[in-house]
Amino acid sequence: MSTTNGVKRGHAIALFSGGLDSALAILLILRQNIEVTALTFMTHFGCDLGDRSSCGSDPYPAAEKFGFNVKLMHLGQKFVDIVRNPRFGRGRNMNVCTDCRILMLNEAKELMAMVGADFIITGEVLGQRPMSQVRDKLNLIVNQTGLKGKLLRPLSAKLLPPTDAELSGLVDRDRLESISGRSRKRQMELAREFGLEDYPSPASGCLLTDVGYSNRLRDLLANTEHITFDDLNLLRVGRHFRLDHDTKVIVGRNEQDNKMILAYKQPQHCHLEALNIGSPVTLLIGNNSEENLTEAARITARYTSAKDQPTVTVTWVRDDGENRAFEVSPVTDEETSRAIVR
Ligand code: SF4
Repeated sequence: MSTTNGVKRGHAIALFSGGLDSALAILLILRQNIEVTALTFMTHFGCDLGDRSSCGSDPYPAAEKFGFNVKLMHLGQKFVDIVRNPRFGRGRNMNVCTDCRILMLNEAKELMAMVGADFIITGEVLGQRPMSQVRDKLNLIVNQTGLKGKLLRPLSAKLLPPTDAELSGLVDRDRLESISGRSRKRQMELAREFGLEDYPSPASGCLLTDVGYSNRLRDLLANTEHITFDDLNLLRVGRHFRLDHDTKVIVGRNEQDNKMILAYKQPQHCHLEALNIGSPVTLLIGNNSEENLTEAARITARYTSAKDQPTVTVTWVRDDGENRAFEVSPVTDEETSRAIVR
Protein backbone atom coordinates (compact mmCIF):
# COMPACT_ATOMS: atom_id res chain seq x y z
CA MET A 1 0.00 0.00 0.00
CA SER A 2 2.52 2.62 -0.94
CA THR A 3 2.53 5.74 -3.01
CA THR A 4 3.04 4.93 -6.65
CA ASN A 5 2.45 7.92 -8.87
CA GLY A 6 1.23 10.61 -6.45
CA VAL A 7 -2.42 9.87 -7.25
CA LYS A 8 -4.39 9.35 -4.07
CA ARG A 9 -5.96 5.91 -3.73
CA GLY A 10 -8.99 7.02 -1.75
CA HIS A 11 -10.47 9.86 0.26
CA ALA A 12 -11.29 10.01 3.97
CA ILE A 13 -13.17 12.63 5.98
CA ALA A 14 -11.58 13.17 9.41
CA LEU A 15 -12.99 14.69 12.57
CA PHE A 16 -10.12 16.94 13.58
CA SER A 17 -9.95 18.92 16.83
CA GLY A 18 -6.35 19.93 16.24
CA GLY A 19 -5.33 17.69 19.16
CA LEU A 20 -2.80 14.87 19.15
CA ASP A 21 -5.11 11.88 18.68
CA SER A 22 -7.07 13.27 15.77
CA ALA A 23 -3.83 14.46 14.13
CA LEU A 24 -2.28 10.98 14.46
CA ALA A 25 -5.40 9.35 13.03
CA ILE A 26 -5.02 11.55 9.97
CA LEU A 27 -1.30 10.85 9.63
CA LEU A 28 -1.84 7.09 9.83
CA ILE A 29 -4.23 7.36 6.88
CA LEU A 30 -2.27 9.94 4.90
CA ARG A 31 0.77 7.67 4.95
CA GLN A 32 -1.29 5.07 3.12
CA ASN A 33 -1.59 7.59 0.31
CA ILE A 34 -5.20 8.39 0.98
CA GLU A 35 -6.46 11.95 0.70
CA VAL A 36 -7.84 13.42 3.92
CA THR A 37 -10.28 16.26 4.33
CA ALA A 38 -10.39 17.28 7.99
CA LEU A 39 -13.53 18.75 9.52
CA THR A 40 -12.98 21.02 12.50
CA PHE A 41 -16.12 21.91 14.39
CA MET A 42 -16.90 25.01 16.35
CA THR A 43 -19.66 25.45 18.91
CA HIS A 44 -20.73 28.08 21.40
CA PHE A 45 -19.28 25.88 24.14
CA GLY A 46 -15.58 26.06 23.40
CA CYS A 47 -13.50 23.67 21.33
CA ASP A 48 -13.06 26.49 18.89
CA LEU A 49 -9.99 28.15 17.51
CA GLY A 50 -10.11 31.12 19.83
CA ASP A 51 -10.62 29.16 23.02
CA ARG A 52 -7.33 27.88 24.36
CA SER A 53 -8.92 26.44 27.50
CA SER A 54 -11.04 23.98 25.60
CA CYS A 55 -10.48 20.87 23.57
CA GLY A 56 -9.87 22.76 20.37
CA SER A 57 -6.72 24.15 18.84
CA ASP A 58 -5.62 25.64 15.56
CA PRO A 59 -5.89 22.93 12.88
CA TYR A 60 -4.01 24.81 10.18
CA PRO A 61 -0.31 24.36 11.11
CA ALA A 62 -0.57 20.54 11.00
CA ALA A 63 -2.69 20.67 7.83
CA GLU A 64 -0.10 22.80 6.11
CA LYS A 65 2.83 20.73 7.31
CA PHE A 66 1.40 17.33 6.39
CA GLY A 67 -0.73 18.19 3.39
CA PHE A 68 -4.40 17.81 4.10
CA ASN A 69 -7.38 20.13 3.77
CA VAL A 70 -9.32 21.60 6.66
CA LYS A 71 -12.94 22.66 6.59
CA LEU A 72 -14.35 24.64 9.51
CA MET A 73 -17.97 24.11 10.45
CA HIS A 74 -19.95 25.90 13.17
CA LEU A 75 -22.61 23.65 14.69
CA GLY A 76 -24.62 26.66 15.94
CA GLN A 77 -28.20 25.90 16.93
CA LYS A 78 -27.91 22.16 16.24
CA PHE A 79 -25.42 21.90 19.09
CA VAL A 80 -27.50 24.10 21.39
CA ASP A 81 -30.46 21.77 20.76
CA ILE A 82 -28.54 18.66 21.85
CA VAL A 83 -27.20 20.46 24.90
CA ARG A 84 -30.77 21.33 25.91
CA ASN A 85 -32.15 17.87 25.15
CA PRO A 86 -29.48 15.18 24.90
CA ARG A 87 -30.80 11.77 23.86
CA PHE A 88 -27.94 9.88 25.46
CA GLY A 89 -27.46 11.70 28.74
CA ARG A 90 -24.70 13.83 30.13
CA GLY A 91 -21.27 13.25 31.57
CA ARG A 92 -20.27 14.48 35.00
CA ASN A 93 -21.26 18.02 34.10
CA MET A 94 -23.32 19.39 31.20
CA ASN A 95 -21.25 17.62 28.55
CA VAL A 96 -23.25 15.59 26.06
CA CYS A 97 -20.37 13.66 24.53
CA THR A 98 -22.34 10.84 22.92
CA ASP A 99 -24.86 13.15 21.24
CA CYS A 100 -22.00 15.44 20.30
CA ARG A 101 -20.07 12.66 18.53
CA ILE A 102 -23.23 11.55 16.76
CA LEU A 103 -23.95 15.09 15.56
CA MET A 104 -20.39 15.62 14.33
CA LEU A 105 -20.34 12.27 12.57
CA ASN A 106 -23.66 12.96 10.90
CA GLU A 107 -22.18 16.18 9.54
CA ALA A 108 -19.11 14.28 8.39
CA LYS A 109 -21.34 11.68 6.76
CA GLU A 110 -23.10 14.38 4.75
CA LEU A 111 -19.77 15.76 3.64
CA MET A 112 -18.58 12.27 2.73
CA ALA A 113 -21.61 11.83 0.46
CA MET A 114 -21.22 15.30 -0.99
CA VAL A 115 -17.58 14.93 -2.00
CA GLY A 116 -17.73 11.19 -2.74
CA ALA A 117 -15.26 10.23 0.01
CA ASP A 118 -14.81 6.58 0.96
CA PHE A 119 -14.91 6.58 4.75
CA ILE A 120 -14.66 8.64 7.95
CA ILE A 121 -11.87 8.60 10.52
CA THR A 122 -11.69 9.85 14.09
CA GLY A 123 -8.96 10.00 16.73
CA GLU A 124 -11.07 8.03 19.21
CA VAL A 125 -9.15 5.61 21.39
CA LEU A 126 -10.89 2.66 22.95
CA GLY A 127 -11.25 3.14 26.71
CA GLN A 128 -9.69 6.59 26.78
CA ARG A 129 -12.75 8.58 27.82
CA PRO A 130 -15.38 7.07 30.06
CA MET A 131 -18.44 8.54 28.45
CA SER A 132 -17.92 8.37 24.71
CA GLN A 133 -15.05 5.97 24.07
CA VAL A 134 -15.96 2.73 25.79
CA ARG A 135 -16.74 -0.12 23.39
CA ASP A 136 -20.52 0.04 23.91
CA LYS A 137 -20.54 3.74 23.19
CA LEU A 138 -18.39 3.35 20.08
CA ASN A 139 -20.88 0.74 18.82
CA LEU A 140 -23.87 2.88 19.73
CA ILE A 141 -22.36 5.83 17.85
CA VAL A 142 -21.84 3.64 14.76
CA ASN A 143 -25.44 2.40 14.93
CA GLN A 144 -26.95 5.81 15.49
CA THR A 145 -25.08 7.36 12.58
CA GLY A 146 -25.63 4.44 10.21
CA LEU A 147 -21.89 4.39 9.61
CA LYS A 148 -21.36 0.63 10.01
CA GLY A 149 -18.28 -0.27 8.02
CA LYS A 150 -17.58 3.37 7.18
CA LEU A 151 -16.17 4.64 10.46
CA LEU A 152 -12.51 3.86 10.99
CA ARG A 153 -10.68 4.66 14.23
CA PRO A 154 -7.06 4.28 13.14
CA LEU A 155 -5.59 4.46 16.66
CA SER A 156 -7.63 1.51 17.94
CA ALA A 157 -8.49 -0.13 14.62
CA LYS A 158 -6.88 -3.49 15.36
CA LEU A 159 -9.06 -3.86 18.45
CA LEU A 160 -12.25 -3.14 16.53
CA PRO A 161 -14.06 -5.00 13.74
CA PRO A 162 -12.51 -4.30 10.32
CA THR A 163 -14.22 -1.59 8.32
CA ASP A 164 -15.08 -1.70 4.61
CA ALA A 165 -11.91 0.20 3.74
CA GLU A 166 -9.78 -2.42 5.52
CA LEU A 167 -11.71 -5.36 4.09
CA SER A 168 -11.40 -4.04 0.55
CA GLY A 169 -7.67 -3.42 0.95
CA LEU A 170 -8.00 0.35 0.48
CA VAL A 171 -6.50 0.67 3.96
CA ASP A 172 -3.82 -1.72 5.18
CA ARG A 173 -5.06 -2.78 8.63
CA ASP A 174 -1.58 -3.98 9.59
CA ARG A 175 -0.34 -0.40 9.47
CA LEU A 176 -3.01 0.84 11.88
CA GLU A 177 -2.75 0.82 15.68
CA SER A 178 -4.17 -1.11 18.63
CA ILE A 179 -4.07 1.58 21.30
CA SER A 180 -6.46 1.47 24.24
CA GLY A 181 -6.75 3.21 27.58
CA ARG A 182 -5.62 6.53 28.93
CA SER A 183 -1.84 6.23 28.58
CA ARG A 184 -0.43 8.42 25.86
CA LYS A 185 2.85 6.54 25.51
CA ARG A 186 2.22 5.08 22.08
CA GLN A 187 0.77 8.37 20.82
CA MET A 188 3.97 10.14 21.89
CA GLU A 189 6.07 7.58 20.01
CA LEU A 190 3.95 8.04 16.91
CA ALA A 191 4.18 11.80 17.19
CA ARG A 192 7.97 11.51 17.22
CA GLU A 193 7.90 9.10 14.28
CA PHE A 194 5.76 11.46 12.20
CA GLY A 195 7.64 14.60 13.27
CA LEU A 196 4.49 15.99 14.82
CA GLU A 197 5.48 18.79 17.17
CA ASP A 198 3.61 21.51 19.04
CA TYR A 199 0.51 19.50 19.68
CA PRO A 200 -1.60 20.70 22.61
CA SER A 201 -1.46 18.76 25.87
CA PRO A 202 -4.55 16.60 26.37
CA ALA A 203 -7.45 18.77 27.40
CA SER A 204 -10.42 17.77 29.46
CA GLY A 205 -13.00 18.80 26.90
CA CYS A 206 -15.18 21.74 26.01
CA LEU A 207 -16.70 24.23 28.43
CA LEU A 208 -19.54 21.79 29.11
CA THR A 209 -17.10 19.74 31.19
CA ASP A 210 -16.38 22.71 33.46
CA VAL A 211 -18.31 22.75 36.77
CA GLY A 212 -18.76 26.52 37.05
CA TYR A 213 -19.75 26.93 33.42
CA SER A 214 -22.17 24.00 33.70
CA ASN A 215 -23.86 25.54 36.75
CA ARG A 216 -24.33 28.84 34.92
CA LEU A 217 -25.70 27.01 31.89
CA ARG A 218 -28.09 24.95 34.01
CA ASP A 219 -29.36 28.16 35.55
CA LEU A 220 -29.83 29.73 32.12
CA LEU A 221 -31.68 26.70 30.75
CA ALA A 222 -33.96 26.53 33.78
CA ASN A 223 -34.93 30.18 33.51
CA THR A 224 -34.88 31.02 29.80
CA GLU A 225 -37.05 29.52 27.13
CA HIS A 226 -35.41 31.09 24.09
CA ILE A 227 -31.67 31.20 24.50
CA THR A 228 -29.68 33.48 22.22
CA PHE A 229 -26.06 32.99 21.23
CA ASP A 230 -25.24 36.15 23.20
CA ASP A 231 -26.77 34.54 26.31
CA LEU A 232 -24.37 31.65 25.81
CA ASN A 233 -21.39 33.87 25.17
CA LEU A 234 -22.12 35.78 28.37
CA LEU A 235 -21.87 32.54 30.36
CA ARG A 236 -18.12 32.67 29.78
CA VAL A 237 -17.84 36.06 31.40
CA GLY A 238 -18.03 37.42 34.95
CA ARG A 239 -19.84 36.36 38.12
CA HIS A 240 -23.50 35.48 37.67
CA PHE A 241 -26.31 36.18 40.14
CA ARG A 242 -29.93 35.07 39.85
CA LEU A 243 -32.42 37.62 41.25
CA ASP A 244 -35.62 35.95 40.05
CA HIS A 245 -36.87 33.69 37.27
CA ASP A 246 -36.64 36.51 34.72
CA THR A 247 -33.68 38.44 36.01
CA LYS A 248 -29.96 37.89 36.35
CA VAL A 249 -26.99 40.09 37.08
CA ILE A 250 -23.51 39.63 35.59
CA VAL A 251 -20.56 41.36 37.23
CA GLY A 252 -17.16 41.65 35.51
CA ARG A 253 -14.22 40.12 37.37
CA ASN A 254 -11.54 42.05 35.52
CA GLU A 255 -10.93 44.51 32.70
CA GLN A 256 -11.32 41.83 30.06
CA ASP A 257 -14.71 40.76 31.48
CA ASN A 258 -15.84 44.38 31.64
CA LYS A 259 -15.03 44.86 27.96
CA MET A 260 -16.81 41.63 26.98
CA ILE A 261 -19.88 42.52 29.04
CA LEU A 262 -20.17 45.88 27.29
CA ALA A 263 -19.63 44.20 23.92
CA TYR A 264 -22.52 41.78 24.52
CA LYS A 265 -24.82 44.36 26.10
CA GLN A 266 -28.19 44.69 24.35
CA PRO A 267 -30.30 47.87 24.45
CA GLN A 268 -32.76 46.22 26.85
CA HIS A 269 -29.99 45.38 29.38
CA CYS A 270 -29.07 47.84 32.14
CA HIS A 271 -25.43 48.75 32.65
CA LEU A 272 -24.36 49.72 36.17
CA GLU A 273 -21.04 50.77 37.59
CA ALA A 274 -19.58 52.92 40.35
CA LEU A 275 -18.04 55.85 38.54
CA ASN A 276 -14.66 57.35 39.50
CA ILE A 277 -13.60 54.45 41.74
CA GLY A 278 -12.38 50.92 40.95
CA SER A 279 -15.55 49.19 39.81
CA PRO A 280 -16.73 46.25 37.78
CA VAL A 281 -19.13 46.66 34.91
CA THR A 282 -22.47 45.05 35.73
CA LEU A 283 -25.33 44.00 33.48
CA LEU A 284 -28.87 43.61 34.70
CA ILE A 285 -30.69 41.31 32.30
CA GLY A 286 -34.43 40.90 32.65
CA ASN A 287 -36.84 42.82 34.86
CA ASN A 288 -35.38 46.25 35.71
CA SER A 289 -37.78 46.96 38.54
CA GLU A 290 -36.71 49.40 41.22
CA GLU A 291 -36.05 46.48 43.53
CA ASN A 292 -33.87 44.65 41.01
CA LEU A 293 -31.92 47.78 40.05
CA THR A 294 -31.20 48.40 43.72
CA GLU A 295 -30.12 44.79 44.22
CA ALA A 296 -27.88 44.95 41.13
CA ALA A 297 -26.36 48.18 42.47
CA ARG A 298 -25.72 46.52 45.85
CA ILE A 299 -24.04 43.54 44.18
CA THR A 300 -21.90 45.88 42.09
CA ALA A 301 -20.93 47.83 45.23
CA ARG A 302 -19.56 44.66 46.79
CA TYR A 303 -16.93 44.36 44.08
CA THR A 304 -15.82 48.02 44.00
CA SER A 305 -12.75 49.47 45.67
CA ALA A 306 -15.18 51.04 48.22
CA LYS A 307 -16.73 47.69 49.23
CA ASP A 308 -15.84 48.23 52.92
CA GLN A 309 -17.70 51.55 53.12
CA PRO A 310 -21.22 51.56 54.58
CA THR A 311 -22.60 52.94 51.31
CA VAL A 312 -21.37 53.22 47.75
CA THR A 313 -22.78 55.26 44.89
CA VAL A 314 -23.49 53.04 41.89
CA THR A 315 -24.73 54.51 38.64
CA TRP A 316 -27.12 53.12 36.09
CA VAL A 317 -25.37 54.28 32.92
CA ARG A 318 -28.15 54.71 30.43
CA ASP A 319 -27.89 54.54 26.66
CA ASP A 320 -29.99 57.72 26.31
CA GLY A 321 -27.25 59.72 28.06
CA GLU A 322 -29.22 60.08 31.31
CA ASN A 323 -27.56 58.52 34.36
CA ARG A 324 -29.17 57.55 37.61
CA ALA A 325 -27.28 57.14 40.87
CA PHE A 326 -28.12 54.66 43.65
CA GLU A 327 -26.67 55.12 47.12
CA VAL A 328 -26.54 51.53 48.39
CA SER A 329 -24.93 49.28 50.98
CA PRO A 330 -22.86 46.43 49.48
CA VAL A 331 -24.51 43.00 49.69
CA THR A 332 -23.40 40.82 52.61
CA ASP A 333 -21.66 37.44 52.30
CA GLU A 334 -24.92 35.70 53.07
CA GLU A 335 -26.84 37.66 50.45
CA THR A 336 -24.09 36.96 47.95
CA SER A 337 -24.16 33.24 48.48
CA ARG A 338 -27.94 33.20 48.17
CA ALA A 339 -27.89 34.80 44.72
CA ILE A 340 -24.61 33.76 43.16
CA VAL A 341 -24.64 30.95 40.58
CA ARG A 342 -21.55 28.81 41.14
S1 SF4 B 1 -16.22 17.34 25.71
FE1 SF4 B 1 -17.86 16.02 24.94
S2 SF4 B 1 -19.52 17.48 24.49
FE2 SF4 B 1 -17.65 18.68 24.63
S3 SF4 B 1 -16.88 18.81 22.51
FE3 SF4 B 1 -15.84 17.05 23.49
S4 SF4 B 1 -17.13 15.30 22.95
FE4 SF4 B 1 -18.36 17.13 22.57
